[in-house]
Amino acid sequence: MCGIVAYVGNKPCQQLLIEGLKRLEYRGYDSAGCAVIQDGALRVVKAVGRVSNLEDRLEAIGSFTGTIGMAHTRWATHGGVTDVNAHPHTDDKVGIALIHNGIIENYAALKTYLEEKGHVFKSQTDTEVLAMLIGELYEGDLEKAVQAALREVTGAYAICVICEKEPSTLVVARKGSPLIVGIGNGEYIVASDASAIVSHTTQAMTLADYNVVKITPQGFRTSTIHDVPVTPKIEQLELELQEIELGGYRHFMQKEIFEQPKSLRNCFRGRCDAKEGRVILGGLADHAKELNKVRRISLAAQGTALHAAMIGQYLFEDLAKIPARAEYASEFRYRNPIIEDGTAIIAVSQSGETADTLAGLHEAKERGAFALGVINVVGSSIARETDAGVYLRVGPEIGVASTKAFTGQVAVLTMIALYLGRRRFMSAEQCTELLTALDSVPEKIERILTQDAAIRAVTQKYCDRENWLFLGRGYNYPTALEGALKLKEISYIHAEGMPAAEMKHGPIALINEGMPAVFIANKGRQYEKVLSNIQEVRARGGHVIAVATECDEHIKRYAEDVLYIPDIPEPLSPMLAVVPLQLMAYHAAVIRGHDVDKPRNLAKSVTVE
Ligand code: GLU
Repeated sequence: MCGIVAYVGNKPCQQLLIEGLKRLEYRGYDSAGCAVIQDGALRVVKAVGRVSNLEDRLEAIGSFTGTIGMAHTRWATHGGVTDVNAHPHTDDKVGIALIHNGIIENYAALKTYLEEKGHVFKSQTDTEVLAMLIGELYEGDLEKAVQAALREVTGAYAICVICEKEPSTLVVARKGSPLIVGIGNGEYIVASDASAIVSHTTQAMTLADYNVVKITPQGFRTSTIHDVPVTPKIEQLELELQEIELGGYRHFMQKEIFEQPKSLRNCFRGRCDAKEGRVILGGLADHAKELNKVRRISLAAQGTALHAAMIGQYLFEDLAKIPARAEYASEFRYRNPIIEDGTAIIAVSQSGETADTLAGLHEAKERGAFALGVINVVGSSIARETDAGVYLRVGPEIGVASTKAFTGQVAVLTMIALYLGRRRFMSAEQCTELLTALDSVPEKIERILTQDAAIRAVTQKYCDRENWLFLGRGYNYPTALEGALKLKEISYIHAEGMPAAEMKHGPIALINEGMPAVFIANKGRQYEKVLSNIQEVRARGGHVIAVATECDEHIKRYAEDVLYIPDIPEPLSPMLAVVPLQLMAYHAAVIRGHDVDKPRNLAKSVTVE
């Protein structure tokens, strides 16, 4: 779930481990810890809270000079947030330390077995069970003990293990949680995310599920948990250091909101031929036959990606005339979904590691669906497990509250809908018209961003209110959901998003004097209807903030505050309408004094179900 950094090489590693953890802080966590082998003995330090607390503790002890070690940020799943539950966990009899991302699902049975063998547990975590199991199975070879233990385990893991008895060996493994081995000069840096590696090396090996790597300063050996040798896949990491630094912005979320014109230009580059009315998607090129057979599309996602998928649902039905349904992957998986011949599943996820989405994908594939991915992180689990897909190309997203990945996901789904539409009923002229408009999105977002100060001023007026509504219709109903989610995630204000017409069927009871209601009221098929919905809120004392189309003066008669977006064909309007909502959420959080990039309880990529 959270952060792993480990090092084996020829230089003292404590500083590198802490720096690595800081690069991973954005992923959200609640405690941190590290272990180093120093003069042949394991030294473990842990602290609840920020990495800086861990640093303070290390400083108090005096720094370690060991050249093998590992560090972890924990996002608690099993057992409360305490020093004892923080990683690393140890088996003190053998002198083993282990850090773990993920969940050991059969930990209870294993714990009973180990307790019967005389092991005494200090923590409530599932992770400690694995540390003890490795200790139990240790017969003088750490790699073999790890392989043997992992053969007994069900669940998801990325782990790093060190042992006093083999003071220059680091053993790492993964299943269902990401892990990368950075290869330097006589040194190796292992991490759960490339951002902790790129300042040291850009050569890296990605691991497949059930791979185990034994690493020493002299080299490494890759095998499976059954000890079958594996040929390592070494790649060049594409990530640039400046992409993961703040570069003058106050927060990553702010930087990423402002990056959207650029990230969308990257997303569109080489993919849209407006003149010919054609979309060129490399990731789909070899699958024309399967795509022509698609009669139904299921979109599976969670959180912000689900809101993008819901817009995708409108796009596929409207532009490609293919019946589509977007839903929570977690629900899709367990509701016995009907997958007929010609069903395609589209898994939408920024990280490509979202456990619920991955599980939904597995279910659909099992039932014979053709699987597509709309993913940002290249080479991630979902990207590898789908038959085809289109990457977002929006660059690394560090902010926990997703922004540029959302507009990237909507942009990619738009391109896929146009691609499929052209193969069915859409004329080249209609496609040309929409592609020309799509091409104008980055510049139009730039125009919205120039209103940042005005958006902040409107937010300031209302951000002491504890309940908000976000309302939209048609394509912008999911945008309203996304606006509400953004506000909840980082400013902790209660907000509900819904179709504007739904309000009068119940939620209207919530409206009282001064309650802010954000309406997406851009010019479109349902504009007049939205105006009526606005009246309903006004009549009950609500404050209306409208997101409206530039030059719409009429709206001022209805709304207290108006934020303008440029005109654009309706199917493309969510990419514009969401931007003022992102900025409102950002400013509300800053004004209320919250740490925007480290919102409470949230993790960047949710790799547990
Ligand atoms: N399940 C483990 C725990 O609760 C690991 C959590 C994580 O991925 O950070 O300690």
